[in-house]
Amino acid sequence: MSAKPYVGRFAPSPSGPLHLGSLVAAVGSYLQARSQQGQWLVRIEDIDPPREQAGASKVILKQLEQFGLHWDGSVLYQSQRLAAYQQQIDQWLYQQAAYYCQCTRKQIKAAGGYYLGTCRDLALHSDNCATRLSASRPIYSFNDQLAGEVIIPKALAEEDFIIKRRDGLYAYNLAVSLDDAEQGITEVVRGADIILTTGRQLAIFELLAKAAPNYLHLPLVLDEHGNKLSKQNHAPSISGKQNQQLLLQALRYLGQASEAGWLELSCEQILNKALANWQLSAIPKISLHSQ
Ligand code: GLU
Repeated sequence: MSAKPYVGRFAPSPSGPLHLGSLVAAVGSYLQARSQQGQWLVRIEDIDPPREQAGASKVILKQLEQFGLHWDGSVLYQSQRLAAYQQQIDQWLYQQAAYYCQCTRKQIKAAGGYYLGTCRDLALHSDNCATRLSASRPIYSFNDQLAGEVIIPKALAEEDFIIKRRDGLYAYNLAVSLDDAEQGITEVVRGADIILTTGRQLAIFELLAKAAPNYLHLPLVLDEHGNKLSKQNHAPSISGKQNQQLLLQALRYLGQASEAGWLELSCEQILNKALANWQLSAIPKISLHSQ
């Protein structure tokens, strides 16, 4: 029996240009996919307009090209998948696998921080409500390709989580799982900041009765204060000129070999060298305790 062909992806949210943290995820997912002779897809996760920056999708795609990170097929935009998300939600509502919830964040916080299923049996209608998925088969742990067994806190695993927000926006966990299923992703390689959301995504795969991808979470790039570099805390974004340097920096974060002489090469040539030397086992292990 031949193994399923590898399909990987990079799925940036267009909340700003790529920065070193997102570049590490792009390079890591790209090299892992290519090392398996796999496809590498790009998906723009543009389902949260209030958090998006005008023009960022275009900038990100241009940056990827400039880094020599050439993707396969056409880019999938989540903003074009809303009908599919709604159709799945409607089906779950019909099957009573999902329900409407009117609780506010404040109420949930006052009740201890986790949502305790208050609205599950209230048969509410959609007005001014969020939609939650019943955690009928909670996922308490999963195997990460790098970190090994990851335990998900019980309260988090058992929480009926939001799949559509009260403001009408679709939730990340819903969109990401439906798209990973739709695109036939066999392995998700991404930053460790969202490692615990994996349980929710696995719960959705169970409900869909589809084979879930493998998950591999990469170490996060932290600033000098130990904070995650992100668009929100104004990580310096990457300018076109220092691309080779940044690629080498990303490779160092991934624990991969790099040589100063590579700076003379094109980005494509650097990636080819990195691919020839790619060692999954050299990626620094993430510390789950800092979550
Ligand atoms: N869109 C998410 C982000 O930019 C990544 C989601 C994922 O890779 O699953 O942080």
